[in-house]
Amino acid sequence: MTTTTDFLSHLNPSQRRAVEHHCGPLLVVAGAGSGKTRALTYRIANLILQHRVDPENILAVTFTNKAAREMKERIQKLFADRLAITEYNERFDLLPEDDQTKLKSKVWKNYIKDMWCGTFHSLLSRVLRFDIDKYQDEKGRQWTRNFSIFDESDAQSLVKEIVTKQLNLDNKKFEPRSVRYAISNAKNQGLSPKEFETEQPNYRGRVIAEVYNHYQSRLAQNNALDFDDLILVPVRLFQQNEQVLGYWHNKFRHILVDEYQDTNRTQYELIRLLTTNNETKKTDWDWTNRSTFVVGDADQSIYSFRMADFTILLDFQQDFGDGLPDDDTRTMVKLEENYRSCENILQAANQLIENNTQRIDKILKATRGAGEEIFCHKADDEIAEADFVIKEISSLENQHPELNWGSFAILYRTNAQSRPFEELLVRSGIPYTVVGGIKFYDRKEIKDVLAYLRAIANPADTLSLLRVINTPRRGIGKATIDALVNAAQELGTTLWEILIDETSVNTLAGRSAKAVNTFAQMIRHLQEQIETVPVSELVQGVLENSGYIKDLETQSTDEAEDRLQNVQQLFNAALQFEEENEDVNLQAFLASTALSSDLDNLKEGETAVSLLTLHASKGLEFPVVFLVGMEQGLFPNYRSMNDPASLEEERRLCYVGITRAQERLYITHARERRLYGSREPALRSQFLDELPEELLMTRQKSTVAYTKGTAGSTAQRTTKRNQDTTASWQVGEKVLHKAFGIGEITHIFGSGNKVSLAIKFDSLGQKIIDPRVAQLQRV
Ligand code: ATP
Ligand code: MG
Repeated sequence: MTTTTDFLSHLNPSQRRAVEHHCGPLLVVAGAGSGKTRALTYRIANLILQHRVDPENILAVTFTNKAAREMKERIQKLFADRLAITEYNERFDLLPEDDQTKLKSKVWKNYIKDMWCGTFHSLLSRVLRFDIDKYQDEKGRQWTRNFSIFDESDAQSLVKEIVTKQLNLDNKKFEPRSVRYAISNAKNQGLSPKEFETEQPNYRGRVIAEVYNHYQSRLAQNNALDFDDLILVPVRLFQQNEQVLGYWHNKFRHILVDEYQDTNRTQYELIRLLTTNNETKKTDWDWTNRSTFVVGDADQSIYSFRMADFTILLDFQQDFGDGLPDDDTRTMVKLEENYRSCENILQAANQLIENNTQRIDKILKATRGAGEEIFCHKADDEIAEADFVIKEISSLENQHPELNWGSFAILYRTNAQSRPFEELLVRSGIPYTVVGGIKFYDRKEIKDVLAYLRAIANPADTLSLLRVINTPRRGIGKATIDALVNAAQELGTTLWEILIDETSVNTLAGRSAKAVNTFAQMIRHLQEQIETVPVSELVQGVLENSGYIKDLETQSTDEAEDRLQNVQQLFNAALQFEEENEDVNLQAFLASTALSSDLDNLKEGETAVSLLTLHASKGLEFPVVFLVGMEQGLFPNYRSMNDPASLEEERRLCYVGITRAQERLYITHARERRLYGSREPALRSQFLDELPEELLMTRQKSTVAYTKGTAGSTAQRTTKRNQDTTASWQVGEKVLHKAFGIGEITHIFGSGNKVSLAIKFDSLGQKIIDPRVAQLQRV
């Protein structure tokens, strides 16, 4: 049997202290890349291995669901080698070594399945699936455990409907997105519509309060919650019901929170309730076999627009430490070594953040060599900027065996900036992923199938029923649907109640009655299977019985083919969900899909260039980072330029961006940029001037040299493959593309160095590619 603690040797003494701390509150504060997330992960492993804490009693909150998955995998790996596995299988030692390894990881996978690890939203939606029926809102409305989760686009359409149809307001004055934002803020401050209304000094505010009021009723009618409710409702439930709180308080004995600087008041309230089991008690808590462990960096607080508040982190010791003063080492650990970035990058980040006034000074020392200088590039416009970046990526990837597409990230301030980069990446045939762009779960066909599943799980969800009642077309027209909906409203019942009553349908639906009845029977038939068949089979059932697949097949267009592949992917997602989770019913699956946030769509093991906003980059790291669009008004954002507090938040965002880079950092800006349709001259960002000049290197041409990591190492100039860019191409020629495989040239556009090729690949169909950037080989 191996010892259970040797893995702690991967930690420095301060990390080790954080990890070995057993009971009571502990705050870990440290700069970027200092191993906070690592300490949190190892702490979980140590609690289980050393202190024999049951994984069931651990609650770990991460910033994305992807981070949660990675954390579980990490822990599983830490365990796999160190398990007294004989507890599980007496004849373990007799097994061949390969089988021993497999068995170990299987046993641990199952064991830590019970651990609650995820985002605030995903964890709390799970809590609500147990207990929401014990909750009542201020108007006495209740929800049942099969509630639906409305994602951001559902919530916005609901607001839009209320603004334009129910209240007949001008949707230019009351733009649904901004009204939804105001409602969301109210919820994040824990305000009910009534409380919100009393705070409104003007007409606009009072109208928004009215929309909020209707919005809540509509959610309740649909037995639905939005994302903000997923946090707010548990807090209220815990405040309302001691028994419910008592249960979860006893269960979650060890609470761990990553990125604590970005928690908001409601989330804080929740942690405090779970820790103390009491609304009012503030001191003398019982910490026996219990801990609350949070890690964060106030310099990386970047979500104040979602009401995040880093003073929550600064107050942790007073709040949880029975009134112990700040800086008391019994409740705080500081980490001071950075393991992520080369020294130049780190020095730039440190110098930048020193320009903020609202901060606590801290030390962050480099442990790696100086590395390369930081490359600055000024481009003519945004197209030339993208061209520079993509060429750079292409040549670095080409020359350095240790880099793959996944080593690169392009970070920008606003989502819309991704477009020129995407276009060039597509033309160059470089695989990429937009973290936070069009999400799989936002695609029409996926939303359709999920609406079926939601209607099956929760027939009161009228929005979902309406989405699918005539999708695919089954001859149920708008007039019929209106008649059915009106009847339900008149009768004060749900649409579903009307649909399942054949007589009502026959009366109301006229010639479409048969179609409506068949639809209702189909939904009911699927409902009957909820408890007995796995989720994947339900998905299959929906696809076949609804006629969805057949409809796509008969369309036989490229678009329909894409949609077919997407719904097939959803079936795969259901299978994967069944394999990975302990709680595998339909509602759990729906919650997981609703919560696969836009920060989660980087696939496992895939190597693709990442395009993402600075906000989405938190906690991540990449060998090569491009920070693009560094211009006044863009970054820092123009709205922050006259507001010192917002400007400091922009600077923190820049600090986050810089500290994502491990080996090499590029900063680019343009001379002029197309904004709102017209070309505007652009000034370089003030943040660039705040970086140490001696570390910046200005470069106009694409680089060919690349030095890996440590100081003093010389540039490697290895060429991975020969590139044939000058040759003239012929239609009909076969070529080999690194990512797409073999294809045939079908068209040639342009000439000279402006040439691009249409290539038909066996598996992927036609793509247009720039042969100067993509590495094509004749075959
Ligand atoms: P951020 O503030 O960006 O979230 P962090 O403080 O959470 O950063 P981690 O992501 O945990 O930092 O660690 C940064 C990198 O340093 C990771 O690649 C991690 O594996 C590595 N690392 C952390 N601690 C050590 C250590 N003691 N020895 C070697 N490498 C370490
Ligand atoms: Mg981290």
